[in-house]
Amino acid sequence: MQAEILSVGTELLLGHTINADAAYVARELAGLGLDLLQVHTVGDNAGRLATAMAEALGRSEIVITTGGLGPTEDDLTKETVAQVLGLPLEVHTDSLNRLRAYFGDRPISANQYKQAMLPQGAVAFPNDVGTAPGCAVPAGEGHYVLLLPGPPAELLPMLHTYAVPFLQQLHQEVIQSCMVKTFGIGEGVAALQLASLTGNANPTVATYAGDMEMYVRVTAKASTASAALALTEPVIAQVRTLLGDVVYGVDVDGLEDVVVTTLLQRGETLATAESCTGGLLAKRITDRPGASEVFGYGFVTYANEAKKRLLGVPEHILDTHGAVSAATATAMARGAREQSGATYGMAITGIAGPGGGSVHKPVGLVYIALNDSAHTWLRVLQPQGRYPGRERTRRLATSHALDMLRRRLTGLDVEGAWAAH
Ligand code: ATP
Repeated sequence: MQAEILSVGTELLLGHTINADAAYVARELAGLGLDLLQVHTVGDNAGRLATAMAEALGRSEIVITTGGLGPTEDDLTKETVAQVLGLPLEVHTDSLNRLRAYFGDRPISANQYKQAMLPQGAVAFPNDVGTAPGCAVPAGEGHYVLLLPGPPAELLPMLHTYAVPFLQQLHQEVIQSCMVKTFGIGEGVAALQLASLTGNANPTVATYAGDMEMYVRVTAKASTASAALALTEPVIAQVRTLLGDVVYGVDVDGLEDVVVTTLLQRGETLATAESCTGGLLAKRITDRPGASEVFGYGFVTYANEAKKRLLGVPEHILDTHGAVSAATATAMARGAREQSGATYGMAITGIAGPGGGSVHKPVGLVYIALNDSAHTWLRVLQPQGRYPGRERTRRLATSHALDMLRRRLTGLDVEGAWAAH
């Protein structure tokens, strides 16, 4: 079943109001398994609304309007829909009674009164917080126009309490979506690797560039949620096979989520030593519930003095190799682990920029070291292309650190040279 949204309101076209209603309705339609074909916005103009409505009904069985149901002159959605469908407006007794109850002893003006008029044959959606009811208007064989009010505070309760159940009894399909999350692969390469799946109709497979990561959404439709979920499972397995170990999880919040969960499962702990990321790695880990079981503390050692005093980085290493070097990162990771008694020490040292770079050590160069009692792994981020700014450089460095640990914890190859930008 196909649906369209017709948002009515000149304030939307002027950019004064963001079309939040369309997003609220779209989300519900997806949950119901209805295909949303288009979202149109028209001003408070009967002629253009009538044209848009007739066109939408030519394409889709369900057209949902938002806005223009109130008492004022420019509220003309209901009148226009009635005219397009050739239906007279009739007094709806329940809505009139509600209006009377709402106004109490105050008189109901003609403008207010028109809110109790609905197109003939419409199913009313009571407005539990305002005065203008919505409704579902039959619009020919299997077609309906649903009218919803503009203010989100009125639209949302009406949508959830009346419109969604109405649509549910028309349409018995649900959609389930799963998000496969990856780190370390670009969207272009991933799309090529997934080419055999992206033409599928059910489930559909689509790639998204995330926050320095790449996501693959697998979406299935079926008559029940569990049947839809069952359809996604073999496709997710295929995505994993095609993309390999860059996949770090399905429907997880982020790399930190996987790291904390896996450390918890293994009964292991982590200590961090950060220079250019200033504690961001520790923050990302402690953002996750349960982190206290796996993370005791981290060191933010920005100055060389701190690296020496708190982590025991030997002076000769700093003198010979500099603070941004493989040797310093290794010594920091070892120091963090030894000082804390944790299973793993993880260290980041680099040049987040925008200043501080040189020919040999350019902005964006970052060394990340992971140390356990037997081994140290190292990842070097080499700047490439446009400098993305301090924040993104720091965020990327912490993502690489989390990825290294995730790989160590799951027995995958940990190291490698990477592009930093
Ligand atoms: P009312 O009974 O308040 O007149 P209505 O159904 O006639 O409701 P409109 O007059 O079109 O709705 O819009 C009223 C207010 O609702 C707008 O000023 C705006 O703040 C908000 N609104 C309208 N449409 C949207 C939308 N698509 N997304 C978010 N807010 C909206």
